[in-house]
Amino acid sequence: MTELQSFGLRLADPGAGAASRRGGAGPSDHKAVTVDGHTIMVPVHTSSAWNSPFTAQAPDAEGRSTLTRGSIPIARISFPKQPRFYAMQTFDGVPYSHIATLHGSDVLATTVLQTCIRYESRKKSCKFCAIGQSLAAGRTIARKTPEQLAEVARAAVLLDGVKHMVLTTGTPNATDRGARILCESAFAIKAAVDIPIQGQCEPPDDDQWFHRMKAAGIDSLGMHLEVVTPEVRERVMPGKASVPVARYMSAFEAAVGVFGRGQVSTYILAGLGDTREAILEICDRLLVLGVYPFVVPFVPISGTPLEDHPAPSPEFMKSILQPLGRSLGEANLRSSDIKAGCGKCGACSSLSVYES
Ligand code: SF4
Repeated sequence: MTELQSFGLRLADPGAGAASRRGGAGPSDHKAVTVDGHTIMVPVHTSSAWNSPFTAQAPDAEGRSTLTRGSIPIARISFPKQPRFYAMQTFDGVPYSHIATLHGSDVLATTVLQTCIRYESRKKSCKFCAIGQSLAAGRTIARKTPEQLAEVARAAVLLDGVKHMVLTTGTPNATDRGARILCESAFAIKAAVDIPIQGQCEPPDDDQWFHRMKAAGIDSLGMHLEVVTPEVRERVMPGKASVPVARYMSAFEAAVGVFGRGQVSTYILAGLGDTREAILEICDRLLVLGVYPFVVPFVPISGTPLEDHPAPSPEFMKSILQPLGRSLGEANLRSSDIKAGCGKCGACSSLSVYES
């Protein structure tokens, strides 16, 4: 799985299963693939995927496909089906799929606010991010209202059995940094349907927001470091680097006090210049705080300034995920104990496979 995520996948039938994801906030340009009962997101639209040794042959009548490496069959895989809620639209005519999408096999994910103060200038924006692309392409809307989110979440639970929900957001301001719209959204969703929710935002300027988010119905929280070394932060995400790592660490500590050990997590993109040692060192500090460090391989998204940046090698990923998996076990933190969100889903990294 680690190799598949690093190299990507060529598809004999690009239309198989649920539609692949292009653009948007966070990792993208990949498709959900189920291998050995474990659903992972595998790059399919990146340039490295076009040269991948892995190919998924056209699926059979049951939707199962043979995965080959070169010409050698190595596994049977399947693709999660297109969810039924994608066929619906709101009373005001917005397709549900423009409001939230299926991630992995059972996660409903949405970017509540598709604009970001960091993205206003490409000089300051996070160079890996494609939050403006899906909006420009008309595949989503700029702001999902609490009512729209509640309507879609209810349908996705009832029709497709989604198990948890991710609310991420572009950063609207330099104060609450998105916490307020996450609160409004979670409150409306929880009033409509009982589903665990992860909120994701930059650390707000006031730790009181953690209490407000929890009270609004957010069960777990992600605050994403993305990269960790000061020079790499300045180079890769010059705007977001204005919030120092020290603020992330104090916010993590305060958030764990509200959400509990293992219910606060962070995303770390391996392959953008941080050394293995730098990533493992900060992961050790996070584990002491009770934060789940979700280390994922960087996916170079088409149309971003980093589209030609290579994905990390499987060896580099294994050299991080193996010891990190052991450390997670020693800290008694497990993806399966997270109530909602990326760490629980686990589709963007093979980390959970290494958990001991
Ligand atoms: S890990 Fe997060 S971003 Fe990746 S598929 Fe799961 S919910 Fe989506």
